[in-house]
Amino acid sequence: MSFRALGHAALDWLLPPVCAGCRAALALPRRAPSRFECSPALCPRCRGRVSWSSPAEVVPIDHALIARVRVGARYEGVVEEWLRRFKYPGAGPAGLSPAPAAAVETLLLHALAQLDDDPERDTPVADAVVPIPSPRRRIRERGFQPTALLARRAAAHLRLPVAWHALRARGARPSQTGLSRVARRRNAAGAFASGRSSLAGATLLLVDDVVTTGATLESAARALRGGGAERILAVCVARARLEDT
Ligand SMILES: [Zn+2]
Repeated sequence: MSFRALGHAALDWLLPPVCAGCRAALALPRRAPSRFECSPALCPRCRGRVSWSSPAEVVPIDHALIARVRVGARYEGVVEEWLRRFKYPGAGPAGLSPAPAAAVETLLLHALAQLDDDPERDTPVADAVVPIPSPRRRIRERGFQPTALLARRAAAHLRLPVAWHALRARGARPSQTGLSRVARRRNAAGAFASGRSSLAGATLLLVDDVVTTGATLESAARALRGGGAERILAVCVARARLEDT
């Protein structure tokens, strides 16, 4: 038994794995995940309640800007609930639970698993991971930036760096929630600027929580391309329909 496997066995004994969705005990042992493996964080019942996405899921994105977009699941039911609890943890002990983040991470991993069309390839899919930045005011109000946590998890799984300064939010962009397709595009236009990192020739993986029309991703991709990035990929935890938001 390797040192790492021994460590995981000890961890299972101390903290038996539970479902991130419903806290039921998981039969599956915790193992060190491989690069694209889905972590077994959800029980079969919770997995059955998720509308998982496939690579065939079409996100109507401008492919001249973004080569490929992959999503974890439909933004509905338990997925909507997990994302809400992850983004708005609330006060008190319930807000400290790592469960919503673990459930959301499982969805993110599902999106990452579909990113590479050639899983045998051993070159990385991208040079770095870039979170969609929130406006400063919103980070202050919330106390953390959900996309930064997602980017860190994606980067750890892909063994890539996070390019924290590749992209910055310009000004106080209002939330996209409740806006029409046209209004979202207008709202997202010019919302980002490329930061101080050198992006020349880079392939970058954008990470966001929810994609609806793709206007935010496109705007971010435009800024990164303007900063010299050559190729943009994107992963999102969930895909919402315009009427869901
Ligand atoms: Zn469960």
